[in-house]
Amino acid sequence: MAQHPTLDGVKQIDESKQGAVFFPESEAQKATTDTAATKRFYIESYGCQMNFSDSEIVASILADIGYSATRNMEESDLILINTCSIREKAEDTVRRRLRIFDKVKARRPGTLVGVLGCMAERLKAKFLEQEKLVDLVIGPDAYRDLPNLVQNASDGDRGINVLLSREETYADISPLRLDSNGVTAFISIMRGCDNMCSFCVVPFTRGRERSRNAFSIVAEASDLFAKGYREVTLLGQNVDSYRWTNPETEEDVSFAQLLEMVALVNPDLRIRFSTSHPKDITDEVLITMSRYENICKYIHLPVQSGNSRVLQLMNRTYDREWYKERVAAIYRIIPDCAISSDIITGFCTETEEEHQDTLSMIEFVQYSMSYMFFYSERPGTLAARKYNDDVPLEVKKRRLQEVVNLQNQISKEHNQADIGKTFKVLIEGNSKKSDQQFKGRNSQNKMIVFPKREGLKAGDYTEVKVLDATSATLIGELA
Ligand code: SAM
Ligand code: SF4
Repeated sequence: MAQHPTLDGVKQIDESKQGAVFFPESEAQKATTDTAATKRFYIESYGCQMNFSDSEIVASILADIGYSATRNMEESDLILINTCSIREKAEDTVRRRLRIFDKVKARRPGTLVGVLGCMAERLKAKFLEQEKLVDLVIGPDAYRDLPNLVQNASDGDRGINVLLSREETYADISPLRLDSNGVTAFISIMRGCDNMCSFCVVPFTRGRERSRNAFSIVAEASDLFAKGYREVTLLGQNVDSYRWTNPETEEDVSFAQLLEMVALVNPDLRIRFSTSHPKDITDEVLITMSRYENICKYIHLPVQSGNSRVLQLMNRTYDREWYKERVAAIYRIIPDCAISSDIITGFCTETEEEHQDTLSMIEFVQYSMSYMFFYSERPGTLAARKYNDDVPLEVKKRRLQEVVNLQNQISKEHNQADIGKTFKVLIEGNSKKSDQQFKGRNSQNKMIVFPKREGLKAGDYTEVKVLDATSATLIGELA
């Protein structure tokens, strides 16, 4: 494991959840999954939030055919791994996990092992050749076929379905909330990506972009609220290009309109979203955010590089000036908004001066935090085909360390500027370090820990005054 989590390469969005074993937490969900369940599945998830959200769809499909979730792979009939291909290290991690699953299989013959997600899609049948003990290979658009494939595999046939779809959004499947705190949940609003950033494998592993029925999204949010959830995160690779046409009226629903529809579910339901693409984020979205208190004042707006030539090579379709203008618009329309980023160092042909542009962009925007990576060439991408991966690994890593150091310093300053302020915080549960303390987030997505008070519980909103801050966390007391 690398010293800094971002150097580890596989980590994205929620570092602490990588490889998390999904399991239904609430009693109600346990009851649902246990009824008539005769077999058990175990699932590990890697990569972005979309994968974690997909695992909840998979769990729902499996519950329908009598599988309940277990945390213990040794007692499972079906071991699944939902994989990520975004960087080479992510794939290495998956292969290491498969070696462990092989051992379980040897001890417990008949256990099936299935590979889901992006790596399944990227390697397709090759997976079955390379990894002899894998029984199932299922791409992100083929989860409805799981019951058939599991049945065939139980009968001794190794199963594969990696067909990508232009329509599949799993809109009618009610995800089984796994490993949930009962307060926050993800809702997938679209799938795939049409952007073709030259470094990125996602368009190849997740297929064409498609948006989900807006009413099914609102229904899912309402259902979550009724069950006690108080925050939903709308997920897509590029949420700003969400567009759904109502087949009855032929009217289009834009992302700004969708945000408003979900915000109106209940003022006590917080809305977050991820990821915004700098080329597509509109003032209309920003104005909608400013109008509704329950739409959180936080935007994840990955810059990738601060240099216009590198951005062009990356095929991001915006330049440094465009990005700075969008940031200025955010701070103008939503002055208390926090912005975070994804950054790649050492992309093909990046010079030291161009790297300095990334550092100065971090200074300019004052990101509250960033996910930072060194460039990892992915087979089949535009960059792999067209450009030379010519920045030496040690240079990529040194530049990454410079980016990490600067971001940590700015995150710390950003957080220290909050000392003395009071924020409305949604309580998510006990803090990691002590059951005498709660943890929760403010609208700007900053984690705050504070001592408990009788009568307060997870899912409640409360006002917290910030007393101290590190680069990652605010420390406060009830106001
Ligand atoms: N759709 C989002 C966007 O456009 O920003 C993010 C998609 S990707 C799952 C998450 C992040 O992984 C990207 O923003 C990028 O910083 C990083 N990433 C993608 N491909 C990479 C590569 N080949 N090497 C290093 N980092 C990569
Ligand atoms: Fe990858 Fe670019 Fe699509 Fe994000 S927008 S998923 S980085 S191709």
